[in-house]
Amino acid sequence: MSILVVADVVDDVLLPSTFSAITAARQIAALAGSDVHLLLTGHQFDSSLEVASKAGCDRVFVASSDALADRNPESVAATILALNPNEYTHYLFSSTNFGKSVAPRVSAKLDVAQFSDVTAVRSESTFERRTYAGNVIVCVEALNKVKVLTVRSAAFARTPASETKAEIEACPAVEHPNRSRVKERFADKSDRPDLASAKIIVSGGRGLGSKENYENVLTPLADKLGAALGASRAAVDSGFASNDHQVGQTGKIVAPDVYVAIGLSGAIQHLAGMRDSKLIVAVNSDPDAPIFGVADVGLVADLFEVIPQWVVMA
Ligand code: FAD
Repeated sequence: MSILVVADVVDDVLLPSTFSAITAARQIAALAGSDVHLLLTGHQFDSSLEVASKAGCDRVFVASSDALADRNPESVAATILALNPNEYTHYLFSSTNFGKSVAPRVSAKLDVAQFSDVTAVRSESTFERRTYAGNVIVCVEALNKVKVLTVRSAAFARTPASETKAEIEACPAVEHPNRSRVKERFADKSDRPDLASAKIIVSGGRGLGSKENYENVLTPLADKLGAALGASRAAVDSGFASNDHQVGQTGKIVAPDVYVAIGLSGAIQHLAGMRDSKLIVAVNSDPDAPIFGVADVGLVADLFEVIPQWVVMA
C-alpha cells in the first residue's frame, strides 16, 4: 500500500510546504511499511519535475493539462481520485489554501473523516493537532481505513533532496464540470522572503498607528535583517498591510528562527500562528502585554524611538 502526497506547485515551483508534507508521509510510511508517491497537478511543468524527482518519493505522478492550469479544487480532487483508489491508505496535503481547498473534497468523495493541521505523527492512524487557538494539543485516532490529512508545514522539517531520482510518470488529468471558473489571478510580487518559509520575520501590530508608519518603521528593519514582513490581524484590518501578511489563527502559521513582534499585544489568536518560532523578540510600551509571556527577548519601549536605533545598529 502507498501514501499519496499532493504537491503544492505554483508557476512551476514546488512550494516548501510540499517537502514538509513529504516528511510527514515518510514518518507514516516508516511505521506502516508503505511507499510514498507524489502527485503534481497543473500545467506547463519544467524545472519542478526535476525537483520532484529528487524529493525522496518512490514514484512521482504528473497530471498536466490546461484544465488544471488554475488548480481548480474540483478538478484537482477528481484527478487525485482517478488514481487507483485501492492503492492509497493516506492522502496528504499541506495546510496551504490549496491543500485546504482540495482535501475536504477528497475526504467527502471517499466518505472518510479529514484530519486538519496535523503537527505530529504518533502512529499510522494517530496524529497530533492543536486546538483552542493552539493552547491544547489533542491526539486523534483515524478509524477509517483511508486517512485524509492536511499537514502543518511549520511542524515538519522539509525533506532534503535525495541522491536517487524517481521516474516521472504521466497520469490522467480530469476536468470536473465546475460551476466556477478563475477569471483572473493577482499575486503580490516582492523580493522579500516568503512569509510562510522565511527564517526571520518582522511583524507589526496596531501600535504602529498607520500604514505609513508600518512601511517607514518596519521596512528598513526587515531590509537590514533580510526578513519577511508580517502583521497582526488588527494591523491588517486597519489597512497597514495586506491580508497575506497576517500571522495567526486565521492567518499564516509560521515558525521562523527569529520572530520580531513590534507594537502588537500578543493576543492568543496571534500567538497561535507564531508561538513555535525559535526566538521571539518583542518590543512593546506596555510591560504587561501578553507577548512578553512568550518572548525570549523583550524590550519595554516606544517602538518609534528604538526601532530606528536598531536599524542604525543592525
Ligand atoms: P492590540 O491588541 O491593540 O495591541 C497593540 C499593542 O501595541 C499594544 O500591546 C500596545 O501596548 C502596543 N503599542 C502601542 N503603541 C506603542 C508604541 N508606540 N510602542 C510600542 N508598543 C506600542 N489576530 C491576529 O493577529 N491574527 C489572527 O490570525 C487572528 N485571528 C483571530 C480570529 C478570531 C476568531 C478572533 C476573534 C480574533 C482574531 N485575531 C487575530 C484578533 C486578536 O484577537 C487581536 O485583536 C489582534 O491580534 C490584536 O492585534 P494587535 O496586537 O496588533 O493590537
